[in-house]
Amino acid sequence: MLPVRLYGDPVLRQLATPVLPPDPKLNELSRVLENTMREAEGIGLAAPQIGISLQIAVVDLRKIEKRPSSMELFGKPVDWRLHMPLFFCNPVVTLTRRKDEENEGCLSFPNLHGPVRRSLRIQMDYQDLKGNRLTLTAGGLLARALQHEVDHLMGILFIDRMSPDIRRTLAPELETLQRLRPTRT
Ligand SMILES: [Zn+2]
Repeated sequence: MLPVRLYGDPVLRQLATPVLPPDPKLNELSRVLENTMREAEGIGLAAPQIGISLQIAVVDLRKIEKRPSSMELFGKPVDWRLHMPLFFCNPVVTLTRRKDEENEGCLSFPNLHGPVRRSLRIQMDYQDLKGNRLTLTAGGLLARALQHEVDHLMGILFIDRMSPDIRRTLAPELETLQRLRPTRT
């Protein structure tokens, strides 16, 4: 496991580098990501959040019962639970126009939550750890979680997606977070 990098850490603002699966080092990294996510009790984690600026992330929504998800692979409905933890490399997301607003949190922002507007359905082209190229369509919480993690790989944070009003109300907490951030050399 590796410590989760907090808001203010420059690595969270970098555009992550694409990866070349299959690669034993990526498999190792995927295990670190999964263990760190579990330990932190999160439902998703992107490599930049553990200080590694590579385009790989994981989501696992199996613990969330209240917010439904849907998933299709190459246009065919599948049971998303059977695909968790879902690791994805080099994702490219296509958004759809219908959006909704839900509360979100982020492991890099302890105890901070706020409403974020996101597409209800997305398509994501990506590679799995074996290097297969896959196209999935996601709805509900899965669509939201994937958009959140793919943003991390682009250096975009959920506060960037909040309305200016909400961001203003969160400003004191954000300042505190930045002060708390341990200095790393
Ligand atoms: Zn996050």
